[in-house]
Amino acid sequence: METARHNILEGRKDQVHRKGQEPFNMACEKHSLAGSVSQRACVFCGSRVVLYPIADALHLIHGPAGCAAYTWDIRGALSSGPQLHRLSFTTDLRERDVIFGGEKKLYHALVELIDQFQPKAAFVYATCIVGVIGDDVDAVCKRVQEEKSIPVLPVHSEGFKGTKKDGYKAACDAMGRLVGTGDTAGIGPRSLNIMGDFNIAGETWLIKRYYERMGLQVVASFTGDGRIDDLRRAHGAALNVVQCSGSMIHLAKDMKERYGIPFIHVSYFGIEDMSRALYEVAEFFHDQDIVDRTQKLVRDEVSQIMPELNRYREKLMGKRACVYTGGAFKAFSLVRSLRTLGVQTVVVGSQTGSKDDYDLLRKLCDEGTILVDDTNPVELSRFVQEKGADLLIGGVKERPIAYKLGLGFCDHNHERKQVLAGYEGMVNFAREVYSSVCSPVWKLVPGRRTESEASGEAAAPTLLPVARKVS
Ligand code: SF4
Repeated sequence: METARHNILEGRKDQVHRKGQEPFNMACEKHSLAGSVSQRACVFCGSRVVLYPIADALHLIHGPAGCAAYTWDIRGALSSGPQLHRLSFTTDLRERDVIFGGEKKLYHALVELIDQFQPKAAFVYATCIVGVIGDDVDAVCKRVQEEKSIPVLPVHSEGFKGTKKDGYKAACDAMGRLVGTGDTAGIGPRSLNIMGDFNIAGETWLIKRYYERMGLQVVASFTGDGRIDDLRRAHGAALNVVQCSGSMIHLAKDMKERYGIPFIHVSYFGIEDMSRALYEVAEFFHDQDIVDRTQKLVRDEVSQIMPELNRYREKLMGKRACVYTGGAFKAFSLVRSLRTLGVQTVVVGSQTGSKDDYDLLRKLCDEGTILVDDTNPVELSRFVQEKGADLLIGGVKERPIAYKLGLGFCDHNHERKQVLAGYEGMVNFAREVYSSVCSPVWKLVPGRRTESEASGEAAAPTLLPVARKVS
C-alpha cells in the first residue's frame, strides 16, 4: 500500500480514500492541483459537451481554432434529423484580435453562418482568451439576435474560470433562456422531459421508447437529439427526469423555481438502476395504468436478457474492475452493474463528484476499495496495479492507460458508438466487458499481476509495461 501512497502528490492526499482503512473525510469539488495531469476538461469543454447534441443549432466557438478542434464532434450523439451540430465553427482569434478585440470578427462570423445554415438558434461559446481581452459577447449576440430574429445565446464558458462543472452551469444558463419561449399546446398531463441523456449511439431513442410504452409523452430531450423548438416548450411538461445530475441539475432546479416542475434523479445504466428509474417515474404520476405498463415492460425486458447475462457472469465471476467516470452518478450504476456480472469494483473515482457522491460510493463498495477524486494517469496506473484490476472502465483518456498496463478496457464515455443504457445496453456492456477482460491477448503482456499476487502486498511492477509484439 505504501508503494502506491508514495505516488500521490502531497496536495492530493486528501482526495484519495481507502474504505475501512482510514476515517472518511474526502476532499473534492476543488480546482485541480498544479502539476497533477488531471483527466478533467475545462469549463468551455463542459458547456460544449452538454449543448453539442442540439442538432438544429449553430455552435460557434469564439476563440482560437485549438479550442474548436479540441471539442469537434466530441460525442457519439446521434440526430434523427439535422446534422448542424457536427460541424465546428470558430472565430479563429489571432494575435491581432487579441490586441484590437474580436467583437467585429464575431459579429461577421455569426451573420455569415446564420445566413448560410439557417439555424433555429445560435450558441456562442466564450473561451479563455475572450475572458482575458474582455469582448462584449452579450452585446454582439443581442445585436445579431435582433437582426436575424433567432435566439443568439452567449455561453459564458471561459476555460480558466472554474472546473468542467462550471461549464455545465453555463450551458444550463444558456438553455434556461430558451425554456418558456415556446407554445405548450398539445402537451398532456402524462408528460416529461428527458434531461442529461445525450443520445450516445441512440440511447435517448431507446429511453424514449420505454417511456412511450409506459403511456407517457416525451416533450423535450436535453440534449440528446435535441431541437430548439422542443426546448422552448419544455416548461409544459409535468416532470423533469434528470440523468447525469451534474450536467443538468442547474436547469432542473431553475425550471422547478420558475415553472413549478418537479424533478427526479435517475440512471439508465444497469438492470437495477434502469428498472428503478422507470418505477420512480411511474409512481410519480399516481396512475395504475402507467404502473401496470411499467411492471410488464420491466418483466419482459429483464426476462429476455437474463439468460445471456448469466452466461457472461459465469465467465467473469471474481474479476476486478477500476471505474473512472466524469460524473459520480454513472459510477454508482457501474458498481452495481459490475456486481450483477460477478465483478468486484476495487478502484472507483470521478472527475466531478461531490462529498455526498463519494459517501454513497463508499457505502456501495467493499472494504479496501480505493475512492479517488480528480485523479491523474500516474495515480490511476498505480491503483490499478496495486489492486490487480482486470478491467478499467473510463473514457478516451483512460483507454491508453488500460492498454499499456495490459488489461481490459470498456469505453463508457461519450465517444463510444454502442448503446450501454437500458436493458439491451446492459447486454452490450456485459459482452464488451467479457470480450475485453477474457481476451487471450492479455496473456502475452509481461508484468501483469495475478489476483493472488494482488491480494498480498507484493512490490508494484514496472509502471506501464510495454506489450510484446505479436506477429
Ligand atoms: S482551457 Fe481555454 S484555451 Fe484551453 S480549450 Fe479550454 S477554453 Fe480553450
